[in-house]
Amino acid sequence: MPRDLDHPPRRFGTVTLLGAGPGDPELLTVKAVKALRRARLVLHDHLVGDEVLALLPPGCEKHYVGKESARHALPQREITALLVRLAHQGHDVLRLKGGDGYIFGRGGEEAEALAIAGVPFTVIPGLTAAQGAAAAAGIPLTHRDHGRALVLATGHGREGHPLDLDWSLLARPQQTSVIYMGVAHLPAICAGLVAHGLPAHTPAALVERATLPGQRCVDGTLATLPALAAEAGIQPPALIFVGEVVRLRSVLASAQRVAPAVR
Ligand code: SAH
Repeated sequence: MPRDLDHPPRRFGTVTLLGAGPGDPELLTVKAVKALRRARLVLHDHLVGDEVLALLPPGCEKHYVGKESARHALPQREITALLVRLAHQGHDVLRLKGGDGYIFGRGGEEAEALAIAGVPFTVIPGLTAAQGAAAAAGIPLTHRDHGRALVLATGHGREGHPLDLDWSLLARPQQTSVIYMGVAHLPAICAGLVAHGLPAHTPAALVERATLPGQRCVDGTLATLPALAAEAGIQPPALIFVGEVVRLRSVLASAQRVAPAVR
C-alpha cells in the first residue's frame, strides 16, 4: 500500500507498564530504576510508596489514579482510557503499579487496551507481594516436602456479592495458597477452606505491609488466624498464606531475620 506522504503517521507516545515490587525500594529491578529516573509523566497506584516515587526526577508529572478497595480515585475504565489518550497525544507514560503489574494489578487489561489502540508499550516485571512477603516472613513458597504447587488467588469479592472463590482449587493439600486482598474476608476464607477439606490445624499466616517499615506477621492455623488477626488489628495491604510451608517460618527464624510475629 503506498504511504500517504502528505500525512505521515503521527508519533504515538509509548507506555511502560512498570511493577514497583512489594514496597522496599531496594527490591526494584535495575530496569525499573532506570525507567523511573527518566520518567516525565507517571500514573501511579496507591501501593507505590513514597520511597519509590522519590526516585522520579524533579519536574516529572505525577498523577495518583488509585485504587484502594473502598476508595477508587479513578475507575479502571477511565484509567485505561486516560493511558490511551495520553499516548495518542504523544506522551511517553510510565504506568507504575505495586508488585507486578500482571499479578492482580489489572495490567493485563491495560495492556489489552493499549494493543487494541495501537499504542506501543513495554512491560517491566516487579517482584509480586507474595515473593516479598515470603522472603520477609521466612516462608518458602514451594518446598519439595511441604508445598508442591503454588496458587496465587484473590480473596476480594465483588461489592455486594458473596465470596466466590474456587474452593476446591484453594483447598488442595500439599500446596501453598497465597491470597491477595483477603483481609476483609479472612473469617469466611478460613472457614471456606476448612469446609472444603483442609484440616482446621493447617498452618496459616498473615503478612501485613511486607518489606515496608512496620511489617508484621500473624502466625496461626485456619482455626485460629481470624481471631488473632482481629486482635492484632491487621489492615490491608496484607497477604494470607495457607499451607504446610508456613510452619517453616519458625524453623528459619533461628537463623534468618524474619518479620516479627504479633503476640
Ligand atoms: N500487583 C500487586 C498486587 C496488587 S493487589 C502484586 O503483584 O503484588 C493488592 C493486594 O496486594 C493487597 O490488597 C495485598 O493483599 C497485596 N499486597 C501488595 N503489597 C503488599 C505488601 N507490601 N504487603 C502485603 N500485601 C501486599
